[in-house]
Formats: sequence, C-alpha cells, structure tokens
Amino acid sequence: MSEPTIFELSKKGRGNHYIPITEQIDGNLQELLGDENLREIPTDLPEIPENEVVRHFIRLSCFNHHIDKGFYPLGSCTMKYNPKVNEAVARIDGFSKLHPYRPEEAVQGALALMYELAGALAEISGMERVSLQPTAGAQGEFAGLLMIRKYHLKKGNRKEVVIIPDSAHGTNPASVRFAGYRSVQIKSNPEGLVSVRALQEAIDDKTAAIMLTNPNTLGLFESEIESIAEIARKYDAPMYMDGANLNALLGIARPGDMGFDCVHFNLHKTFSTPHGGGGPGSGAVGVSKRLEPFLPVPLVARDADRYYLEHERADSIGRMHGFYGNFAVLVRALAYVLSNGSDGLRQTAEGAIINANYLKEKLKTRYNLPYDRHCMHEFVLSGDLQKKKGVRTMEIAKRLLDFGFHAPTIYFPLIVSEALMIEPTETETRETLDRFAEIMRQIDSEIETIPEYVKSSPHNTPVKRLDEVLATKMLDVCWRK
Ligand SMILES: *Cc1c(COP(=O)(O)O)cnc(C)c1O
Repeated sequence: MSEPTIFELSKKGRGNHYIPITEQIDGNLQELLGDENLREIPTDLPEIPENEVVRHFIRLSCFNHHIDKGFYPLGSCTMKYNPKVNEAVARIDGFSKLHPYRPEEAVQGALALMYELAGALAEISGMERVSLQPTAGAQGEFAGLLMIRKYHLKKGNRKEVVIIPDSAHGTNPASVRFAGYRSVQIKSNPEGLVSVRALQEAIDDKTAAIMLTNPNTLGLFESEIESIAEIARKYDAPMYMDGANLNALLGIARPGDMGFDCVHFNLHKTFSTPHGGGGPGSGAVGVSKRLEPFLPVPLVARDADRYYLEHERADSIGRMHGFYGNFAVLVRALAYVLSNGSDGLRQTAEGAIINANYLKEKLKTRYNLPYDRHCMHEFVLSGDLQKKKGVRTMEIAKRLLDFGFHAPTIYFPLIVSEALMIEPTETETRETLDRFAEIMRQIDSEIETIPEYVKSSPHNTPVKRLDEVLATKMLDVCWRK
C-alpha cells in the first residue's frame, strides 16, 4: 500500500528512452534552434524503465476508487458505468483533433452532431430548444436564471426573489444569487415534497421563478407539480427544473409536460461521461418557447444543405463559455442516446428506479428511512439509530471503504439528520446490491460489538483519516511526508 513518487523510483545512470541523436543531427539541431534555446544543465527527469513507469501508474490508479473498480452509490451524482464504446467514439481523430477555429464548412460533421444532440435532448425533456454551451450543472442553472432575468427585464416585470425548497442542492441558491436575485426557502411537507400551502404563502408579484428538482433530492417525485406550475403561471414566474436527477425520468416523463420552462441536463451524470474529481462536464440547458429568444449564442442551426452557427440573436444573454462547451462530452452523450434508443433510455430509468427501491427495502429494517415511500432513482436513510449508539454517519461511510465500496453521499440533503443518500443506478447487478446491503447490515452489527473499530475506520485504504478541509486546500502530492 505504499508507493514512492516517480522521482524516488529513479536511479541515476539507468538511462532513459531518448531518441538517438547522431552527431550530425546534433549539429543541425544546434543550428536550427540556436544556442540560446538549448539547455546548459540537463533536466532532472526520472530515470526508470518503461515497464516500471506503467506499473507505477497502474498501482496509483488502483489506490483511488472509481466506477471501473467498484460500486459507487454516491447519491445525486449518478455514478453509473459508462459504456467504453462511447469513449472510443469520443476519441475518433475527426472529433478529438478538431480545431475550434476551423471554418464551418470544414466541421459539418461536428455541427451535425451538436444539432442532433440538442434535438434529442429537447425531445427527451419536452423543451423547445437546447443550448449545449454550459459546462457544468451549476453553469446551466446560471444560464437558465440569466434567461429568466432577461425575460422579466424585457417585459418590464419587477422581480426580486426565486423560491427554492429546503431540500435544494447548494448550487441552486448560489446560482440565484449570481443571477442577481435573492432566494427564499420554503419548507418541505411531512411527505418530503414541496408544500403547496407554503408555496402559496411565499409567492407574490416579486417572485421571478420557482426552482425545483424533480425527482427531488430525497429521490421523491413531486406529485403536485402540475398545481405548482399553475400557481407559478398566475405570477408570471417561470419554472426552473434542476435536471440532475433526470436519470429517473428518461422516456417516462418530461419536464416540459410538467410545466417547466427551463431545465439543465448534467450530461456527465445521466448521459455517459465519467465524472467525479472535477473533470470536464456539460450542463446543457433547455428552454420553453417563451425563454427561447434568450438562449446563449452561438446556437447550431441548419438550413437546406448545411449546418451553421447562429451568432446574431438580438435577445440572447450572450456567451457562457469559450467556443461550444466541452465537445467530447457531447460526443459521448449522443453515442449514448443513439445506442440506447428511446426504449433503451426508458429501460435505463426503470432500472434505476427498481434498483433503488430494492436496496431501500433491504436496508430500511436496520437504518431509519424517514420518508418511507416508493422512491425514484435514489433514497435517503438517516443514521440516527446508529448515532444513538455512538457511531456517526461519517464513520459508517468510512467503514464502507474497507469493503471496496465508495460511500453514499452523506449529510445531504440537509433536511435529514445524519443523512445517507444512496443512488445505486441501473448499471449494477442484483448480486452487487445484495452484497452492499449485507455489508451495511454487518456495519450496523459491528456498531454493537466493535464500535471503536468502526469509529477508527477505514483500516484497509492507502490513506486513513484525512483532515478533509486541509486536504482540499493544500494538495500534497507527496503524501508520505
Ligand atoms: C450535481 C448536481 C448539481 C450541480 O451540477 P454540477 O455539474 O456539479 O455543477 C445541481 N443539482 C443537483 C441536484 C445535483 O445533483
């Protein structure tokens, strides 16, 4: 479990793989590059044979948890297996080596891909049109709220607040603030849903929008969504849907049909891009007819015989990102949509829902399930019973690492104390779910018999307890120090 740095593995004089330079070329190089561009002191590169380099990095890759290594039930993040064929497609030279400054007539294939994807997402969500530019869910939210802001400015509406439920993801109030509004929080009802009564009390002419997640962050479908949309319409407040949980709806229900005016997609959650650790993402954003004029530019459009970029749109909020967003994420997403087809996408959502309900039923006998209802793609347990016995949710999460599982999302949503938010996704087998349930039950038993051992976990990981705040602020790549 210990791994030196590559510099520590190096041995002076072992040599490296350098391109052989004959004296003749050497002379020319000097002439070609000029003396001032040549090093006087050789670089201090590690000297290590190729096979040891490969082994070093393979070992390091196994120290980290990832979806190719094991189960990853991190709620709200949809850490499902991403088919490798989509990786292969994203790496095709014609896509991966495209330069964004090439003229439109030389990138017709890439434009066609973006056009098709935007169209597919519009159909999946029931929206009028989609922009692929935002590069994260949070940026999709920001783009959506800027469009809503422009909509109000254009109509002369005086608006100040956006209503969000207390179960909302932290990015929601942050995006509201960024867009120049204030967020007002409303309490969920005892069923874990938006309280229509609380909404009616909070909404007035100053309400710019209602921002909801459906299914919400408890994994529950907002069954009153149509009445909520009707209330919003009376106050000319567009409905924003945080679409991070779209994996639960694919092919079954559409935000547009529920009355939403705007939705962002996390292509890196729902549509096949490996994520976690801050890699490239896409927060494509779709809008209804009334928000369509405000979409970011450029948009991909087509006429009879070619695809082109629409730059001139008088009411657009402008640009959200350089060029066209994270293009490789878009390639994977279209490959995923086309390889699944509409029936496959529906099966995806159905599988996610069945797996979550299966696991929920297996776990609720040992862990408290505060909202005991049919769930969508995820569910939230509370570690309250275990905390009474002296072991916190954080420690249960750490103990899970010892068994080769990633921990669930913990302490979110904020309305559940000692929350454990579990999203198994559709890509896991029944055997994996059974094993996870068995280990969760075992940990609960260990809390009775060997509580101190659970509290000092993890025991089998390369690093034990980190100071998590310090670890994110001061990245120390030489961890053995
Ligand atoms: C992941 C997530 C977001 C933010 O998406 P990013 O791509 O991480 O910016 C917003 N809301 C919910 C419910 C999420 O799960």
